[in-house]
Amino acid sequence: MIIQPKVRGFICITAHPDGCAEHVQQQIEYVKAKGPLADMPKRVLVIGSSTGYGLASRIVPAFAGGAATLGIFFERPSDNGKPASAGWYNSCAFEKAAHAAGLYAKSINGDAYSEEIKKLTIDRIKEDLGHVDLVVYSLASPRRTNPKTGLTAKSTLKPVGAPFTAKTVDTDRGIVTDITIEPASEEEIADTVTVMGGEDWEMWIDALSAAGALAPGAKTVAYSYIGPDITWAIYRNGTIGRAKEDLEATAERLTHKLAPTGGAAFVSVNKALVTQASSAIPVVPLYISLLYKVMKERGLHEGCIEQIERLFAEHLYNGAAPQPDEKGRIRIDDWEMRPEIQAAVAAVWPGVTTETLPQVSDIVGYREEFLRLFGFGLPGVDYAAEVEPDMPMPSA
Ligand code: NAD
Repeated sequence: MIIQPKVRGFICITAHPDGCAEHVQQQIEYVKAKGPLADMPKRVLVIGSSTGYGLASRIVPAFAGGAATLGIFFERPSDNGKPASAGWYNSCAFEKAAHAAGLYAKSINGDAYSEEIKKLTIDRIKEDLGHVDLVVYSLASPRRTNPKTGLTAKSTLKPVGAPFTAKTVDTDRGIVTDITIEPASEEEIADTVTVMGGEDWEMWIDALSAAGALAPGAKTVAYSYIGPDITWAIYRNGTIGRAKEDLEATAERLTHKLAPTGGAAFVSVNKALVTQASSAIPVVPLYISLLYKVMKERGLHEGCIEQIERLFAEHLYNGAAPQPDEKGRIRIDDWEMRPEIQAAVAAVWPGVTTETLPQVSDIVGYREEFLRLFGFGLPGVDYAAEVEPDMPMPSA
C-alpha cells in the first residue's frame, strides 16, 4: 500500500515503516558519530522504549556502549492491512539495527502498568540477561489501571486552583487562539498522579529487586519537565506537575532502596520537545515552536537523541558524576532554561498571533518534526512507492 500521513488533531493515525526506520537510523548515526562512551551499562531495561525519550534511551546505551537492551512499550502492530503505529515500526528498525551490530535486543509489547508484563519482563531478564544495570522509566500514557485495585485512572492536563487562559496553537492549521481551561477537581489531580506519578516506577523497581533482576549498583532514571512561567499554570503547577512532583519524590525513596548495593535513582529534567506525548498538552506546542526558533538561531537546539546522549555522557556514565540541582534532579533542560533563551521567547510570546506565527516561531520546523515522529518527510524515502505495512518484530 501507499502510506500517507493522516493527521487528526494532535495525532497522526498512520505511520510509514521505511520512514520510521530512517528516523531511527539517523539517531543511531548521531550516536555513532559522537563515539563510544566509557563505563556504560551492559544490560538495560527501557520501559517506554518505542518513541521519544525512551527510544533515544535505548539507542544511546546500545550504540555508544554495546548494551543488550530489553524494550517495553504499548504499540499497535499492523492489522487488516492498516499501518502499525510508529513505535512498532521504530522498535522493529531498532532491533534490526541492533542485531546487525551483534547486540542483544528484545521487546515486549503490552501494558507496562500490569503485573503480567512486569512478570514477563522479569522472566525474560532472568533467562537471557541474568540482571540489568540500568532501568530507564519513560512512560507517557493517558490512563493506567492499578494492578492492585483494578481501578483505571485517567490523566488530565489542567491547571490547579484557578482557570487558566493563554494562547495556544492548532499546529496543523497554524491558528493561534486563546484557550481557557477550568481547574482540575481533586479527583482529577489524584488520578493524574496515579497515572504519571512515581507509583508504577516504584512497583517496577520493587518487583525487579525482589526477583534478583537488578545488578548490584544498578541505576534507574525517570524523566520530568519544569519549563518556563508561560506554561507554568498548565504544566508545572498543573495536574501533570503534581504527578512530576510525585515522580521526583519517588526517586529519593528508590535511592534509599538501591543505595545498599551502590545503586541510585535519578530524575532527569529534560527539554520540551515535539513528541506524541507533548503535542497533546494545550499551550505547550506554541511554546515549543517559539523555543525551537530561538534555540536553532543560537545553535543550541537538541532533539531527544542529543539530549539523552548528553545525559549519559555528562551525568550518568562516561566517568561523569551527576550534577544535580538543589532538589537532586539532573538538569538537561539547562540550555532551554538559560535566561537569554527564556527572555527571547518571553519577548515574542505576547505578540504572537495567527498572522505573526510564521515569522516569530518555527511552526514549520514543529510540523516537520511532528511528521517525522510518524516516519514522514525523511530524506531518501520513496513515499510514492508501495510498502508492506505488516512487519513482524524481529525478536518475536
Ligand atoms: P512518547 O509518547 O514519545 O513515549 C511514550 C512511551 O510510553 C512509548 O514508548 C509508549 O509505547 C509507552 N507507553 C505508553 N503507555 C504504555 C503502557 N501502558 N505500557 C507500556 N508502554 C506504554 O513520550 P515522551 O515525550 O518521550 O515522554 C517520555 C517521558 O519523558 C515522560 O515521562 C514525559 O513526561 C517526559 N518528558 C517529556 C518531555 C517532552 O517535551 N516530550 C520533556 C521532558 C520530560
